[in-house]
Amino acid sequence: MRPETAAIHAGSHIDPQTGAVIAPMVLSTTFARNEQNELISEFHYARAGNPNRRALEERLAAVEQAAEAVTFSSGLAAAMAILHSLSPGDHIVVSPDMYFGIRVQLEALYSRWGLQFSMADMTDLAQVEAAIRPNTRLIWTETPSNPLVKITDLKQVADLAHRVGALCVCDNTWSPLIQKPLDLGVDLVMYSTTKYIGGHSDLLGGAVIARTDSETMQRIRFFQRMGGAVPSPFECWLMLRSISTLPQRMEAHCRNAMRLAEFLAQHPAIEKVHYAGLPTHPQHALAAAQMSAFGGMLSIELKGGKAAALKTIAGLKLFARATSLGGVESLIEHRATVEAAHANFSDSLLRVSVGLEHPDDLIEDFSNALAELVAH
Ligand SMILES: *Cc1c(COP(=O)(O)O)cnc(C)c1O
Repeated sequence: MRPETAAIHAGSHIDPQTGAVIAPMVLSTTFARNEQNELISEFHYARAGNPNRRALEERLAAVEQAAEAVTFSSGLAAAMAILHSLSPGDHIVVSPDMYFGIRVQLEALYSRWGLQFSMADMTDLAQVEAAIRPNTRLIWTETPSNPLVKITDLKQVADLAHRVGALCVCDNTWSPLIQKPLDLGVDLVMYSTTKYIGGHSDLLGGAVIARTDSETMQRIRFFQRMGGAVPSPFECWLMLRSISTLPQRMEAHCRNAMRLAEFLAQHPAIEKVHYAGLPTHPQHALAAAQMSAFGGMLSIELKGGKAAALKTIAGLKLFARATSLGGVESLIEHRATVEAAHANFSDSLLRVSVGLEHPDDLIEDFSNALAELVAH
């Protein structure tokens, strides 16, 4: 099945008892045995497994053209499952602009647990190579990066990881379907399914997906069951429904983001647009080679500094001033407010999650908000 078909059919079947085309939500936490004291189905207790979670994992794996998907109650729980598959004393290489929450996990939780980590700019292979130690077991990538939209060459980094006996992970939260890390040699794909996969800003979730059922995946599956950060039946049900339209939503997010990026790139109030789909992006060729489209996220820097950035977000009417991304509604965020002392980018920067509104309305909204700046 191609991803568009898998997104609708994988993990789905007509219910033999009722003929229901859409599987019901199963809220029972416990599952009975028959007179011979054998389990009636593969399920026995909802933390270990539930029909809605099973269906969701089948669909996620099929859409990624992979064998195994393990789901969690959030993206951070999925990240923890990967980190817990390592052992105290192991070393991992990460990027300084990795997702902020995972960096906090490493600094505040895993350093006490004895996991060592080094930071290296993943766009510079020599830096990554220099950060490798004899006990390096994992290289953690995230591309495009947040919020500067830097592109990591996944094949190069995965090859390096394998040369030194490590695994390569890609946090692919920004790029489901439009970037296929497993095809480029990456071992584990991680998602915050809260974002594009959920797609409607109404559920939290995470997933780890792999092509083979390795020892690492078995440990991740074990951590799901015994760590207990499992998604609820309702969230699994919602997510399964959301995935049906993921291919079409991604196409529309990418199309709208490209339109908006092109408009912003020529606007006199804008200093810089960070979007890999623009030919002026320094890594446009690499992005074009490893992605089939350029995603729905972009960042802009205003000529007028922080004051202009704050004035812009105050003047926009269609973009909610809120964190997160990947929903049908457009969002905008002054990232320096959120990352504060950790921010390694300009305080004139705004990050935009481009939604599924008509692109002309989004452009018009920006045009009005920016006109105020140019007028003064
Ligand atoms: C949101 C996000 C996460 C964390 O996921 P939660 O679902 O919020 O726990 C991890 N990585 C990236 C790139 C994200 O955007």
